[in-house]
Amino acid sequence: MKITAIYPGTFDPITKGHVDVVARASSMFDAIKVAVASNPGKTPFFGLEQRVSLAKSALEKLPNVEVISFGGLLVDCAKDNDASVIIRGLRAVSDFEFEVQLAGMNRRLSASVETVFIAASQEYAFLSSSLIREISRLGGDVTEFVPANVNAALLAHTG
Ligand code: ADP
Repeated sequence: MKITAIYPGTFDPITKGHVDVVARASSMFDAIKVAVASNPGKTPFFGLEQRVSLAKSALEKLPNVEVISFGGLLVDCAKDNDASVIIRGLRAVSDFEFEVQLAGMNRRLSASVETVFIAASQEYAFLSSSLIREISRLGGDVTEFVPANVNAALLAHTG
């Protein structure tokens, strides 16, 4: 039986921490759908289309990975894509409470989908999209934390 996993997030923008999670997950499951949330509530820095296209280029070397976008309930998106697994990354204890709450709620909404947590690699455990945006906004160099295409987009955005 083929197992498809969905990795949802805002990816505003995708970082090397996200790429690391996707690469590790791609060897555990048959197919990975990276699902970029439209998340209007968060008023993202990059628009949905750009977040999708940045994720696509950053992940193009992984053959079993596809990037999609979604605006509704994650469990509905999982069902539409025949995904039985939701992947989430865990960096620190601070992620834990919210992530467990989310996993519990998604399981209540759809008993057929299971959340699998992937622990962040040590070198990316401190990395978040919001920190990247902030450092970049203040003129700092984020080259080592984001894929090259994302670095270029940040420079173009912040000037
Ligand atoms: P969301 O708004 O859904 O939290 P994010 O794009 O911030 O979207 O994160 C998506 C997922 O990736 C979350 O599960 C988050 O914990 C995880 N994640 C974010 N940064 C990293 C990282 N550096 N290493 C591992 N997982 C990460």
